[in-house]
Amino acid sequence: MRHYTTKGNGTEQKNLMDPQLTQYKANQHQLPHKEIAGHAKKIIDMLIQAGFDAYLVGGAVRDLLLGLHPKDFDIATNATPEQIKSVFRNKCRLIGRRFRLAHVYMGNAIYEIATFRGGSSGDLLLKKGQIIRDNVFGAVDEDALRRDFSCNALYYDINSQTILDYTGGVKDIQQGQLKLIGNPDSRFTEDPVRMLRAVRFHSKLGLHLSDELKKSIIKNRNNLKNVPTARLFDEAIKMFHCGNMLHAFDVLIEVQLFEILFPAADRIIEKDKKMKSLLYHAFKNTDQRLKNNQSVTPVFLTACVLWLEFLLAYQHIINKGKNPHDALHTATTLVMEQQRPYLAIPKAIQNGIRQIWLLQLRFKKMSGKPVYSTLHHPRFRAAYDFLLLRGQIKTDLSHQTEFWTNIQTMSPEGIKSMIFGKHIKHKKTTPEL
Ligand code: ATP
Ligand code: MG
Repeated sequence: MRHYTTKGNGTEQKNLMDPQLTQYKANQHQLPHKEIAGHAKKIIDMLIQAGFDAYLVGGAVRDLLLGLHPKDFDIATNATPEQIKSVFRNKCRLIGRRFRLAHVYMGNAIYEIATFRGGSSGDLLLKKGQIIRDNVFGAVDEDALRRDFSCNALYYDINSQTILDYTGGVKDIQQGQLKLIGNPDSRFTEDPVRMLRAVRFHSKLGLHLSDELKKSIIKNRNNLKNVPTARLFDEAIKMFHCGNMLHAFDVLIEVQLFEILFPAADRIIEKDKKMKSLLYHAFKNTDQRLKNNQSVTPVFLTACVLWLEFLLAYQHIINKGKNPHDALHTATTLVMEQQRPYLAIPKAIQNGIRQIWLLQLRFKKMSGKPVYSTLHHPRFRAAYDFLLLRGQIKTDLSHQTEFWTNIQTMSPEGIKSMIFGKHIKHKKTTPEL
């Protein structure tokens, strides 16, 4: 029996799992070989030609077995990052310090090539059981045990069309189970992001998340606070766009991870069912857009989640007598500051959110020239969707939603008479949102 052992900073962990190889030959599995991207096959071929082993691995093998279309094709090999670089030269870039890997550019896509992890010597850094850096290279069976879930640890040999399964992943997929490889507490400690991945794969793939894993997530949830906040933002967006965020939201609340990512929003939805329902509407809307192959942006759902605390801050500032524009900017800055210790929202996304919120104020002005600048604002579309969403829980927005819906299909003359007509009363708008 081979144990995978990680050493570093005096900490040692054993992952008591025996890698037992089961092979599924071409006639023993349903993986649609034709759906593998030609470039991925080419990259694997080139590595093999250069004398290395290389397999398709991870999400692509999993998704193909589940009858889904993979969003990317990851590759695993025994070639070191430098050796990969020497095979692909200027088509290859080595990235990551924490987890060094190669990006190979082919066609319009980037293919991620990871060297098998495992073994006992190399560049490994642990801090209180959390892997800070892992560049210890090893053999394929060791690599399998380093992966997170059994469904993600399947290796597909494109030449023999055989699946190598060291952790029972094929059976788990067939039985609809999301199984973490090894001991949950130590695997979640090693890399707390796996807890978010667990919720995402459970919701996205419909694989069952056991009570044992849920309990372990609740127990280890605070370790997420030790993960770089930029990585947490990326994970939050992957979750938002997993295609079943409506369900993921409930699970995130159940396993108490929502409060780790968005503590202020979590406190609000606990008391205010209307606000919670706004998020349900938002998530449902994004899930639907993804089903329809419509575009989605990280700005939208982040703006929705942060809106709850923004509204409170905005109202508080207005009550102190500030004008709506100043209040809006001050409240936006405050919300971003409050969120920063938990999730690092990139500046460009923050700006997008600010614009969507600013347009909510502008939507109140439905006469005169300002209507044109609102209508032609680059964020009009997203802000309009946001308005419709707010309209789902706030009935007194119906006048605005009707106005901004109708105006989009009107002729220039129609718009002109609607916003400049003699019957129009140029009312001063109230500051409330
Ligand atoms: P998708 O790309 O659809 O989000 P994926 O499973 O391919 O899902 P990636 O982040 O692309 O996810 O990672 C590729 C593979 O690398 C995973 O399938 C898994 O085997 C391994 N992996 C990724 N992140 C981790 C992690 N935090 N811990 C252990 N293994 C991981
Ligand atoms: Mg992937």
